[in-house]
Amino acid sequence: MTSLLMNRVGARGSEKNLIMNDNISSIRENIIAVNENIENACKAVGRNREDITLIAVSKTKPVEMLLEAYEAGVRDFGENYIQELVDKIPQLPSDVRWHMIGHLQRNKVKYIIDKVSMIHSVDSLRLAEEISSQAIKKNVEVDILVEVNVAQEESKFGTFSADAVLLVEEISKLPGIHVRGLMTIAPFVEDAEENREYFRKLKQLSVDIAAKNIDNISMNVLSMGMTGDYVVAVEEGASCVRVGTGIFGERNYNKD
Ligand SMILES: *Cc1c(COP(=O)(O)O)cnc(C)c1O
Repeated sequence: MTSLLMNRVGARGSEKNLIMNDNISSIRENIIAVNENIENACKAVGRNREDITLIAVSKTKPVEMLLEAYEAGVRDFGENYIQELVDKIPQLPSDVRWHMIGHLQRNKVKYIIDKVSMIHSVDSLRLAEEISSQAIKKNVEVDILVEVNVAQEESKFGTFSADAVLLVEEISKLPGIHVRGLMTIAPFVEDAEENREYFRKLKQLSVDIAAKNIDNISMNVLSMGMTGDYVVAVEEGASCVRVGTGIFGERNYNKD
């Protein structure tokens, strides 16, 4: 029942010409469909497909499934949990780029700091300071995104838009850490169109911050859009979309 629903969810809320899979499609087929949807969204608004990175969100999924996605061409994987990330990294080829997209506790930073290509979920100066000091210790340069709670949902992490500029300015002074853009998790909605305004707001915020010409930062990355709304996110300027369910199927958090 749930698996039947999942690929319908995979195309939820999007418009015409959306490619949908039935519940027996493979990971490879799902990836092809997601890529075609991204391509069509690009065409619709005159963007280049090369400007968008598809991040396959593989939390809770076994390594065999990640390898299937890898075989199908995916090189960017998103994970939420430190232990899972640390376990999976050595089991995939070394050309994989790992994205930490989940809420990050300061005492866990040291386990992943030199293993991920980007941390998408930085929402406080204290966390940024810990990333900076671990980066110095390990002699690495770390790319991060500032997570913004554009819709101001109480249940979500992320800084409010009004505080984002100041946070970026403060982080820009820290060594070893580089803000590359912004990330948001839009509300869970039935109709992806409802999130268009939030994607637009995040894009505008990144343009506003970029205009300040702050040293040591750039605003080239916009990480927004998940299974239910990535088409709308691409139309509104996403440079990374984070798709889990639409590639790997529903997650089961209760299984052993
Ligand atoms: C789990 C997760 C995703 C993927 O969600 P889907 O709806 O399965 O595509 C994307 N971004 C973040 C931050 C997540 O935690």
